[in-house]
Amino acid sequence: MSESPCRDDRADQVFSLNITTLPGISEKRKKLFAKLGVETIGDLIWLVPRSYNDWSRRKPVSQLKEGEVAVFEAAIDNVPSLTRRGRLSYIRARLADDSGSVQAIWFNQPWLAEQIKRGERYVFRGRVEGSGRKRSVNSPEIRKEGEWNFALEPVYPLTAGLNQSQVRQSVASVFSRRGLVITESLPPVIRTGHQLATADYALRRIHFPESHHDIAIARRRLAFEELFLLVAGLKSLKAGREDERGPALSLSPDVLKKLNDQIARLPYELTASQRHAVDAILGDYRRLSPGNRLIQGDVGSGKTVVAAMAMAVACWNNYQAVMMAPTTILAEQHAESIASVLEGSGLNIALLTSGMARSRKRLLQEALAEGKIDILIGTHAVIEEGVRFARLGCCVTDEQHRFGVRQRVRLTGTGEDVPHVIVMSATPIPRTLAMILYGDLDITEIKDMPTGRQPVITYTAAEKDRARVDQLIGREIDRGHQVFVVCPMIEDSPELDLHSAEAVYGRLSAEVFPDRRVALMHGKLKAREKAEVMRRFDRGEVDILVSTTVIEVGIDQPNATLLVVENAERFGLSQLHQLRGRVGRSDLRSFCILMSDSEDPLVRRRLTALCKNSSGFAIAEEDLILRGPGDVFGVHQHGIPDFRVANLYEDGELLKEASAAVESVFLEDPRLEKAENRVIVAEFKARFGDRLIRPGL
Ligand code: ADP
Ligand code: MG
Repeated sequence: MSESPCRDDRADQVFSLNITTLPGISEKRKKLFAKLGVETIGDLIWLVPRSYNDWSRRKPVSQLKEGEVAVFEAAIDNVPSLTRRGRLSYIRARLADDSGSVQAIWFNQPWLAEQIKRGERYVFRGRVEGSGRKRSVNSPEIRKEGEWNFALEPVYPLTAGLNQSQVRQSVASVFSRRGLVITESLPPVIRTGHQLATADYALRRIHFPESHHDIAIARRRLAFEELFLLVAGLKSLKAGREDERGPALSLSPDVLKKLNDQIARLPYELTASQRHAVDAILGDYRRLSPGNRLIQGDVGSGKTVVAAMAMAVACWNNYQAVMMAPTTILAEQHAESIASVLEGSGLNIALLTSGMARSRKRLLQEALAEGKIDILIGTHAVIEEGVRFARLGCCVTDEQHRFGVRQRVRLTGTGEDVPHVIVMSATPIPRTLAMILYGDLDITEIKDMPTGRQPVITYTAAEKDRARVDQLIGREIDRGHQVFVVCPMIEDSPELDLHSAEAVYGRLSAEVFPDRRVALMHGKLKAREKAEVMRRFDRGEVDILVSTTVIEVGIDQPNATLLVVENAERFGLSQLHQLRGRVGRSDLRSFCILMSDSEDPLVRRRLTALCKNSSGFAIAEEDLILRGPGDVFGVHQHGIPDFRVANLYEDGELLKEASAAVESVFLEDPRLEKAENRVIVAEFKARFGDRLIRPGL
């Protein structure tokens, strides 16, 4: 990498240069910038200001009001005085204009005493404190008129050790490179058709705007660009899959008969939604290219049986299928329930977990490679490490967003056919976002719940209600049902006054229910111990299971009718909804009690939202309102990257516009092969390529 800046900098060359090629970036500062996600000059150019300080709206000194951050022009009216107290110091000075004067005080900036001189005029910006004779301005920033040309000064995200002026200087030094040209990243027709500023203009103005109008124009262009590139990129991934060869599955009358017989053998009727989901998957199977389908359905909507049937159809075609779960417990549960819904199918189902003895693992792997196992179920990690299939036809991932790592499905034995991918998720997302979150997947929603299901009756309770909660637990056990108690942590901690699983377990097992079967489960137990507890719970040999959130996802025990959440304020809305899905999984009346002494209005609103709503979608909307943009429900879990400018909630209209633009491009050029459209795929990969969490990418 060259140390000296080139004369005529083209963006594509400059963007990838390390920031250490800029003046004043030491190794130490490089590390600090890395914390902001800035490693290259391109990253720095895209380090978009959080806000702007407006230095243009100035006030006469007499008008400065307590509490406001004010900008005013004034002269230093006396000789600034520096006072030192050990390592601390402060400078006082009087600032005056024609209208009046005000005291200013700067803490711990002794060098300023040398720089500001009596009689000189400056522009100041700072918070006004006190009123009347006590009025002062606290550590105002100082600018000399003429030295800083920008009325709107960018305010950047910072990290400890890096200050505004350092970041501003670095950004300014990039843009002051002679001949820096920022190449366009949108096809020309799109840019002009949607009346968007050029990339060069927008990126310069977002850092150095001359007016609020400039900022709006720049923001719109950059947000559009991000949304457009992501939606278009996802769509091109999907189009690219049309060229791949999927497994050759035939839905012969014989296979369809097997499927219908299998479904008829279930102890219940499939809901219309389940039937529809199975049909959608069969539709994918009929095509030559591999399918990539998201099955989205609230907790308890019955996704597992859909996956089981999908896998069975692949296997009846002499392919293999795999199902990956986020935890060992879930994998074991899936193995059991899939074996049960596929009873009589003649298919060979195996479970692979990390706790398994090596020799057994090896046998299993051999059997898989030889095609002797039809359906393999296990955790993602275990399956990814060294498992090879003879002929993989279908890959199901459950609660995929939980994996939290980038996923690739590289499981095929021969590497020829790409398997059908089915992703199951219970995290509801507002419909408007589905397109951008899952633009590359086909989506099927499971809307209706199995018949006979009643919403889980949800209450809030406080410590003073403890005796009644214990009574309720006792009542459910007397009815022969089982109870979950979920705690925010495993052990008591001196810093946090929370109910730990161990303490709650101790209290319930020794004091409250000494003659009931109480069990404890948490993440620190060995895989084998966890499995043993779950087995006992499944067999009905445990009345009360005290646990941490390890039970959050997918656990299926229809006999569990009461869930108590301790310190419910510690959990997010989506997490509570997931937890609550552990009960109400049969036609038995089920209850959820959210214990919390918190009086925080946001917490109360969150808990009330759960009491009032049973649908995950309604809760997702509420969560969106409560949390606001930034950390919205499920977005990160869904693997959507952070945008630098776009905001999925505020830019809804722009998202529609960008999506329409994407449609128009694909209509003319479905494979993005035209010269002017190639930039789209390149930019999409550069921006989002390694930040997307997706199977099959
Ligand atoms: P989830 O969608 O949360 O993964 P599961 O697949 O675990 O839901 O199903 C929840 C429960 O509902 C299981 O006990 C399952 O046997 C049962 N179930 C699934 N489909 C039906 C149905 N159509 N009618 C009745 N019960 C069903
Ligand atoms: Mg499930």
